[in-house]
Amino acid sequence: MPAPYDLLILGAGPAGSAAALIAALAGLRCAVVDKARFPRDKLCGGLLTGRSLRHLTEIGSLPPADVLERHDTIAFHRHGRPLGEIAGCPPVHLTMRRRLDAHLLERAGDAGAEILCGRRPTGIEGDRVTLDDGRSLAFRTLIGADGVNSPTARHLFGAAHDPAKIGFALEIENPPEDDRRLRVDFDAVRWGYGWRFPKAGSTTIGIGGLQSRNPAMKTHLAGYLAQLGTPRRAPVKGHHLPFGDFRRHPGRANVLLAGDAAGLVDPITGEGIAHALDSGRLAALACRDALAAGDPAGALTRYTAALRPIHRALSQARLLRPLVFSAGSGDFFARAFEDSRSLKHHYMALLAGEAEYPDILRRTLLRLPRRLWRHGVLAR
Ligand SMILES: Cc1cc2nc3c(=O)[nH]c(=O)nc-3n(C[C@H](O)[C@H](O)[C@H](O)COP(=O)(O)OP(=O)(O)OC[C@H]3O[C@@H](n4cnc5c(N)ncnc54)[C@H](O)[C@@H]3O)c2cc1C
Repeated sequence: MPAPYDLLILGAGPAGSAAALIAALAGLRCAVVDKARFPRDKLCGGLLTGRSLRHLTEIGSLPPADVLERHDTIAFHRHGRPLGEIAGCPPVHLTMRRRLDAHLLERAGDAGAEILCGRRPTGIEGDRVTLDDGRSLAFRTLIGADGVNSPTARHLFGAAHDPAKIGFALEIENPPEDDRRLRVDFDAVRWGYGWRFPKAGSTTIGIGGLQSRNPAMKTHLAGYLAQLGTPRRAPVKGHHLPFGDFRRHPGRANVLLAGDAAGLVDPITGEGIAHALDSGRLAALACRDALAAGDPAGALTRYTAALRPIHRALSQARLLRPLVFSAGSGDFFARAFEDSRSLKHHYMALLAGEAEYPDILRRTLLRLPRRLWRHGVLAR
């Protein structure tokens, strides 16, 4: 019987590959399993904020220049009306997930992680995972980095997420366009937004928002494309987005959840790659420390403590979300955003990972008339 892996990781997206890389560098015997063969596509806008770049740098996995496209101008709109274009801001980068994820997994493999791709886990029982080829892999610690529909979360909690709180997103990869500006539309859907991200080989156009508030998502996409004046030239694809519905207890004992599986997506911006990278890293370090202490079951306590800053940021964003998206205050927020150069720049600094939500919250609240609170318009 082969010895158990120190760490077994299910899912080789940014969270899983970051975990595998850090674990391998720490000298753990680890393997990462993914049902897909890489390179594989992943539905995503591919916007890498400064926060994502920082985490990529932190784990020594900054992709080569040809995997990243640098932009420093974003145009914001609401109801099709420009709210202002921000130029000269801290840069953001665009990427294709097919290339980014393959790069990260390769880095994990180079560091010594065993890569088991094209294999689907069929069950978790005790400290063993069975694969669809009949193999049974024993582990001392396990990280479920298997995405928003996480089978690991279903195994632990019966469901991967709460259908009332989850987001949904639709995207198309249209041919490249001449207009190279990034565009974000705050009202393309209810409690969500739309985006047009021009890349060298394609234009990624999408909408994403709370599923419960947008039963007719495809109609919203058609409306958004009409607003952009862009015909649909590619198939529409959809995917759930854990839009701020994070798990306060991301796992159980020696089984941890990272990235989308733990619900670590910003409820306003929809950014998930940065938290996936960071939570994967933190989960691997928690496993390393718990194993070193001879207490694999203590991994969750260590991990939950390490995740506190991410949980705090997501809670703050959830507090601010009604202000940005609700029918009552959304117009007010848009006006404040349009009029205030500093609010725009703080928003960009937030995307760059150079500012946090309390600053935006304070600046917006300072402009919020009292009657908005009094009339309870934030809940609509
Ligand atoms: C339309 C859309 C646009 C988005 N745009 C952006 C953006 O521009 N910027 C941003 O930062 N975030 C964006 N996000 C969010 C971002 O894509 C996710 O937060 C991020 O991919 C999470 O990484 P992860 O590693 O946790 O999960 P994933 O990237 O989903 O990786 C999970 C991996 O697990 C594997 N897997 C799944 N089930 C199993 C199984 N049973 N067994 C084995 N393996 C399994 C999958 O094949 C996959 O490789 C977007 C999301 C959507 C849906």
